[in-house]
Amino acid sequence: MSTNRAFYLGYHVSASGGYMAMAGRAESLGANTFAFFTRNPRGGAALKADESDAAAFRAHWSGGEKGPLVAHAPYTLNPCSDKEGVREFARLAFTEDLARMELTPGCFYNFHPGSHVGQGTEAGIAAIAALLNEVLTPDMHTTVLLETMAGKGSEVGGRFEELREILDRVTLREKMGVCLDTCHVWDGGYDVEDMDSVLTEFDAVIGLSRLRAMHLNNSLNDRGSRKDRHAKLREGRIDPEALVRVVRHPALAGRPFILETPNDDAGYAAEIAWLRERWEAEA
Ligand code: FE
Ligand code: FE
Ligand code: ZN
Repeated sequence: MSTNRAFYLGYHVSASGGYMAMAGRAESLGANTFAFFTRNPRGGAALKADESDAAAFRAHWSGGEKGPLVAHAPYTLNPCSDKEGVREFARLAFTEDLARMELTPGCFYNFHPGSHVGQGTEAGIAAIAALLNEVLTPDMHTTVLLETMAGKGSEVGGRFEELREILDRVTLREKMGVCLDTCHVWDGGYDVEDMDSVLTEFDAVIGLSRLRAMHLNNSLNDRGSRKDRHAKLREGRIDPEALVRVVRHPALAGRPFILETPNDDAGYAAEIAWLRERWEAEA
């Protein structure tokens, strides 16, 4: 399952119906990994935690070349809000989600670090690290990923240095990693068309071993726009060939690549087929 020839490629599937239903949807579009929201993005009801469904999924997913899942926390999860109720929701949702993730050991739980809403980046970083130090446990089987952000508004995580500062303050650092979103880092000012330079900088600031998953998106906006508007792979401001180079980059081999492009099922199937063809032709 983890040869260096593995190419794990998937997209965000709807969580409805549980794990086997998600796997069926993903596989029908040619994906061999997938992402899903652990609860609806507005923060309501969580994905149903059904042990027999999860057991069937674990058995199903262990055969053949299948990549680790990249679950996504709700957008409303903000550990560094200035409102006590919002911070409390972050703590509860994180705790519940990590418990549910134990049904699928060895996967990733990705979250947007947070928005400091005017309290300052330093205060934001401190609050995010404090939450992680509350909810991570030594015996968990999930790796928690900080997502690289576009730096929109008061978002924390628009610079690699900010993610590094969070990681530095987490006691159980071995449970942590980073998910790099190509749209976000482009909007944040990093040149995705020269991925060697981006990864060299990532390695110097955070360390490449911490880079565990990729969100593969094009951007509607110019580099440095700090906007965070995703585009289809072949329709944005990033040269599509640069995105092919990203999935083929030797330093990223074996990571799951997740599409978060504005597509319907047919559009995802087409992007998956295109990327896999390019990867196989030139790998
Ligand atoms: Fe995200
Ligand atoms: Fe993303
Ligand atoms: Zn985004």
